[in-house]
Amino acid sequence: MDMIGVLDLQGDVVEHIDHLERLGVAGIKVKEPADFTHLTGLIIPGGESTCLFRLLNIFGIREVILREFQRGLKLWGTCAGAILLAGKIIGETPCLGLIDIEIQKNAFGSQLDSFTTEASVPRVASQPIPLTFIRAPKITRAGSDVDVLLRQDDYIAAAESLDVLVTVFHPELTPSLAFHRHFALKCGLKPSMDEESSMIDPTWDSKSWTRYTRL
Ligand code: GLN
Repeated sequence: MDMIGVLDLQGDVVEHIDHLERLGVAGIKVKEPADFTHLTGLIIPGGESTCLFRLLNIFGIREVILREFQRGLKLWGTCAGAILLAGKIIGETPCLGLIDIEIQKNAFGSQLDSFTTEASVPRVASQPIPLTFIRAPKITRAGSDVDVLLRQDDYIAAAESLDVLVTVFHPELTPSLAFHRHFALKCGLKPSMDEESSMIDPTWDSKSWTRYTRL
């Protein structure tokens, strides 16, 4: 217990583990059905949603997540992960369908239309948070039991229900630990870092994740 798993099938896994460790929260990679039983939270990372959708079915993990969710597992999907959690994917069959949002894949255009910005997300932090969008989807509708955390132009960029958080951007690719702290608190965990220190970790850089790989 007291651990947050990061779904380790495809996508940016170690970047999330690195952010959790910086907060003083135990994060582990999970991919076998048995790995899921001791988690309080699960992060479904960004990557490629069709690929993740297929791998979830091939390895029988979709059912495991649905079962653990019924037992109280909290979920956070970033980008492709948010697509997998959505109740409705425009033009496609939903995968997990665990939050009442409608989402449109690749809504900003191609990979070349990726961008960074920053925005205030008062529910998550008192200062603006850096945001990285990589061939991101747009959340186009949120149901009445879903709170919108960040609305931008014509779309919703972050939202949450009681048990599920979704962000169409990638907090794990920025020096801010604020969203990871928010999710840890949602899971009932106590990060060792306070809100102020979680805003920007000056020791993070875009290559920090390489310490988890055997290069
Ligand atoms: N465009 C990807 C998809 O639709 C998501 C990209 C990402 O996770 N950064 O799956």
